[in-house]
Amino acid sequence: MSLPWISDLRAEFPLDQLSIEAEVLTKHSHDSSTHPAHLPEVVVWPLNTNDVVKVVRLADKYAVPVTPCGTRTGLEGNALPVNGGIVLDMTRMNKVVEVRAADFQVVVEPGIIGTELNKQLAVHHLMFPAFPASAHIATIGGMIANNAGGMYAVKYGVVGNWVLALESVLADGSIVHLGSHSIKSVAGYDLKNLMIGSEGTLGIITKATLKLVPLVTSKYLVAASFPDVKKALDATLAILHSQADPAAVEMLDAATIKYVNAFKHSNWEELPTILIELHGTPEDLPQRGKKIQSVCQTQGSTSVKSADTTEEIEAIWEVRTAAYPAIVAAHPDSGILPGDIGVPLSQIPAFMAYVAQIAQENQVSVPTFGHIGDGNFHFWLVYRQDNPSEVNRAKSLAAKLVAKALELGGTCTAEHGVGIGKQAYLAHEHADSLQLMKQLKQVLDPKGILNPGKIFATLDA
Ligand SMILES: Cc1cc2nc3c(=O)[nH]c(=O)nc-3n(C[C@H](O)[C@H](O)[C@H](O)COP(=O)(O)OP(=O)(O)OC[C@H]3O[C@@H](n4cnc5c(N)ncnc54)[C@H](O)[C@@H]3O)c2cc1C
Repeated sequence: MSLPWISDLRAEFPLDQLSIEAEVLTKHSHDSSTHPAHLPEVVVWPLNTNDVVKVVRLADKYAVPVTPCGTRTGLEGNALPVNGGIVLDMTRMNKVVEVRAADFQVVVEPGIIGTELNKQLAVHHLMFPAFPASAHIATIGGMIANNAGGMYAVKYGVVGNWVLALESVLADGSIVHLGSHSIKSVAGYDLKNLMIGSEGTLGIITKATLKLVPLVTSKYLVAASFPDVKKALDATLAILHSQADPAAVEMLDAATIKYVNAFKHSNWEELPTILIELHGTPEDLPQRGKKIQSVCQTQGSTSVKSADTTEEIEAIWEVRTAAYPAIVAAHPDSGILPGDIGVPLSQIPAFMAYVAQIAQENQVSVPTFGHIGDGNFHFWLVYRQDNPSEVNRAKSLAAKLVAKALELGGTCTAEHGVGIGKQAYLAHEHADSLQLMKQLKQVLDPKGILNPGKIFATLDA
């Protein structure tokens, strides 16, 4: 027999907006992480803000968990319904509501996929510049809720930096409008930024107003390999100081390139490699590109290549976009514990030296790649899921690497969020403000129905 709250939901929504089918529940029980799956009891696809209000009011009435999700590309279990209940799949709220071209702004629903938004904006010669590498598969709502950041954070910052206003549904079903269409606003507490990065634990985002830039049509890419990580890091810092104004500076270490070569049947030099992308005009790009090539050579690069056509640039970026799938493909039956620490730029060499030390001391491969231009690195610890000692080793090595990042003035998560896997680190990173965070959660969601079990394992002191 159906639970009373499911019967009430059924009365509110037609069959094509609600499902309790096993296949649908299973699909919504996992994300792109290797965290264990958790089944919801029901999935609802809202079509507008009012639908979200109806679901949340019912959840509030019955104290049932509601976990919003986009396309579940999260890498930290952020959208897993760990306590069951309702998954609110936001992907059908995927419209561009209004392009305000004169203001360089767009109002969108949360379910739109990043690249689809930019396709629609290109007609207006505009673009959203701060997408993560998953922009072709992830939703704007998921990006705002995780405050995602990608390759282009060097020049443009992270997704949250481009959000001017949000419409959100709070835990009691009320609708709030946070921020405004003004580029600058200091009117009261900055609740919009509290919502950004809150991983669906404080409210459901139903609309977002985003800032835009003129469409970038001219790009230039430099790829340079170095005999060791230290030289690649020195080159990165020299590039950032050179005023060449890179949009992206990414690095892959030799171990990652090896995985990519095996996966793509490519023949990249198996050495630490940095990719630098520039945005500008056809007139200024060659000069800035040459400057970067010259910096790389001065810093001891073994090979440097450049590209200025879309096809060539996309072909080179493949080495970076294939990195994570290549590591996954090389370990088909394994779990992968991902790290996404961030450290101040000057501390990257110290952090990378520690990664090498950990790998050597433990005789494990720790491939690393990431957004070196903003100090955000991914390390990947592979373990066999059926081998408890490997699982424990991966966890303990991850804890050591995170502790090092914190010691260097960094963070345990620069982009994937706390989700399930980083909760233990919060007490170290935010020892003196963790309690305040929990109090805010309790004020905004007293029954603990919004994406429970994320960010904090418990709301107790
Ligand atoms: C191949 C690959 C590459 C990636 N590259 C990057 C990268 O470069 N940078 C980066 O930061 N991340 C990256 N990610 C991680 C992931 O894509 C991002 O975290 C992304 O923002 C998640 O979007 P999503 O639509 O999949 O959200 P989901 O995974 O479905 O949800 C993420 C979080 O947002 C919440 N949420 C979703 N929609 C809403 C809403 N409307 N209101 C409130 N809360 C909501 C969920 O509850 C959950 O906590 C990558 C992932 C993959 C698989």
